[in-house]
Amino acid sequence: MNCTPKDLLQVFTSYTDILLTAHVSPDGDALGSLSALAGWLRSLGKKVIVVIDDRIEEKFFAYDGCRGIVRPEAVKADDNRLSVILDATDMQRIGKVAALITGKVMNIDHHVSNGHFADWEYIRTDCAATGEILTELFRIWEAAITPAMANALYMAIATDCGFFCFANTTGHTLQMASYLVDAGAEPNRISEGLEETTMNKLKALAQVLQEIELFAGGRVAGISFTQEVQQYTGEHTGGYIDYARRLKGVDVAFTVKWQGPETTRVSLRSKEVDVNVIAGAFGGGGHVRAAGCTLALPLEEAKQVLVKEIEKNL
Ligand code: AMP
Ligand code: MN
Ligand code: MN
Repeated sequence: MNCTPKDLLQVFTSYTDILLTAHVSPDGDALGSLSALAGWLRSLGKKVIVVIDDRIEEKFFAYDGCRGIVRPEAVKADDNRLSVILDATDMQRIGKVAALITGKVMNIDHHVSNGHFADWEYIRTDCAATGEILTELFRIWEAAITPAMANALYMAIATDCGFFCFANTTGHTLQMASYLVDAGAEPNRISEGLEETTMNKLKALAQVLQEIELFAGGRVAGISFTQEVQQYTGEHTGGYIDYARRLKGVDVAFTVKWQGPETTRVSLRSKEVDVNVIAGAFGGGGHVRAAGCTLALPLEEAKQVLVKEIEKNL
């Protein structure tokens, strides 16, 4: 059951050593939220360590807290430390960081598929981003939001709601964004930093767009990131799915990504269909219009199984 904002503040106050983490393959929301929370806790004199079991995309290094993120191999477990898991539904989603967590756990998240596993939880499925939840908490706590924290939180919110285009954008989302701009966030610099690309990446995009396949009479669009395709896209393939979703007549867009001979990572986006249910059928989850899962199948087989499951839900 959810704690109150006051309970959360009391928990933070009672600890000196705090570990912060978020889901593997961290996105803007995970990293912006980590940055801002780390910044605030450090300003209170807390000893904070931020751990992620994955590589961080370079474009996020513009945010203070992202440059000091360490891998789990560099950290030892400590029973007396508070662990805070942001933007993740369960312990599996944080990869090897789970093994470092032997003490109490706080979870701040907005996924409908949240597993309710923490000692203290604050789950707000009405919020578009974990960054939106944190902004509200900071406001309730009357915590000072520095321009660096404001930028990180605005980036967190904007990336999870497609820069205020997706259906999860509410009046509250916009109010929190407005609060952050007043605290020093710079929307133009944030979008420029995230949109900035290289000639190689732009050419990779042109090639990837050639690979889009249609299914179910044009209501489903998919992109396969085989090992060969990943040679020119690199490992970070998160942005491409939005192009497939834009197609007229398409409700569900997906990507299937080679991660090993028997491991395929799936991302799902939709305009209407509940893709959390589809990802849930394979042990994953997420949100109604954005979800993910991993299938223990080779890429081609995974794609076929996935398309069948999507068709059932159309
Ligand atoms: P992705 O396609 O990986 O960007 O994920 C879309 C959304 O679903 C994000 O909010 C993820 O955090 C969430 N998500 C992805 N995979 C899982 C999973 N296995 N379990 C729960 N949530 C997930
Ligand atoms: Mn996320
Ligand atoms: Mn999120």
